[in-house]
Amino acid sequence: MQAPTLEKDMLMSTDRPPVPLFDLNRQWLEIKDDVHAAVERVFATQQFILGPEVAALEKECAEFLGIRRAIGVTSGTDALLAALMCLNVGPGDEVITTPFTFFASAGVIWRLRARPVFVDIDPRDYNMDPEALRAAITPRTRAIIPIHLFGQACDMDAIRQVAGDIPIVEDCCQSIGTRYNGVATGGLGVFGCFSFFPTKNLGAFGDGGLVTTNDEGLAERMIDMRVHGMRPRYVHHFVGGNFRLAAIQAAILRAKLPRLNGWIANRREGAAHYGRLFAEAGLLGVVRPPEELPGRGHTYHQYVARVEKRDALREFLSKQGLGTEVYYPIPLHLQTCFAELGYGEGSFPVSEQACRDVIALPIYPEVRADERERLVEGMRAFFKP
Ligand SMILES: *Cc1c(COP(=O)(O)O)cnc(C)c1O
Repeated sequence: MQAPTLEKDMLMSTDRPPVPLFDLNRQWLEIKDDVHAAVERVFATQQFILGPEVAALEKECAEFLGIRRAIGVTSGTDALLAALMCLNVGPGDEVITTPFTFFASAGVIWRLRARPVFVDIDPRDYNMDPEALRAAITPRTRAIIPIHLFGQACDMDAIRQVAGDIPIVEDCCQSIGTRYNGVATGGLGVFGCFSFFPTKNLGAFGDGGLVTTNDEGLAERMIDMRVHGMRPRYVHHFVGGNFRLAAIQAAILRAKLPRLNGWIANRREGAAHYGRLFAEAGLLGVVRPPEELPGRGHTYHQYVARVEKRDALREFLSKQGLGTEVYYPIPLHLQTCFAELGYGEGSFPVSEQACRDVIALPIYPEVRADERERLVEGMRAFFKP
């Protein structure tokens, strides 16, 4: 071994490889052979839309989740859209959801000319506050969309109790494999809507989604909904859409599904490690790690902490190649496209505060311990220089 020169040492200390927020390549190297085999199988049949691969994925997902029916669709967004269409949500209807999330849920409500009615979140888990829900229900409420944000289930007992007969459409796009008191999210409302976007906990190699339900009648309606409301061929009983999942995506997802529980275990270990590192670094006064509430089965789609001086911290970390992100910087009620709903700054203070102080750290299953250590060391250097 050559003794490193001082210059070389200095170069290495400033030139360490970046710690990316996400790196799909690591998983690709692990699953490559299985994915190639899956794709070859589809090429050999030349059946690219729905068909046996999609049917097999649906069966395997239903078994994995312990939900009676699973229906492959084009994306998580279309899963939500098709679910609301199956429930006949339309003009004059109100659909209650939360503003601290990805755009899709509120977007599909709007596209059906219904009104998104926002309610604030619980600051501990960022999920729908059941008491806020209670206050927002009116005779026009046609559905409720709770979002199991970052992989932690909502307080579904309370939400279901408050909802009564109003149908609940669960946004499970970040919560595949999450179990609420042992029951999979997606089986707690009338529909569960999942996304296979490549960076989700179970990601396709393109867009994809899934709708789950324990209601056979709604399942059959969803099967027709995804092919323009058609049954049998060229006979249309209602207007649906093209929400068909591609066979190649289904085949790839089938190759990945058996590994999902292992990947979730890795995410949970990573989260526990961050918690220990923050404590050891004496950072718990300025960094609040995510809270795991009892029975909510957090699967850590994202690891979201709260910090002081968030934006300055992110800039400091990024200069050292340490990747972080903000989910989400602007609450949906303040998006300009929803201006006519009449909400303003201060309408949902808990959501607005979260937008100001949340920070997401790398949590994908292949993050290495030394990378988490560098992240926390970077945060220590910022807060305790
Ligand atoms: C990803 C996501 C969606 C949308 O899923 P797509 O497959 O990208 O359409 C909806 N809701 C939440 C909470 C999401 O994270």
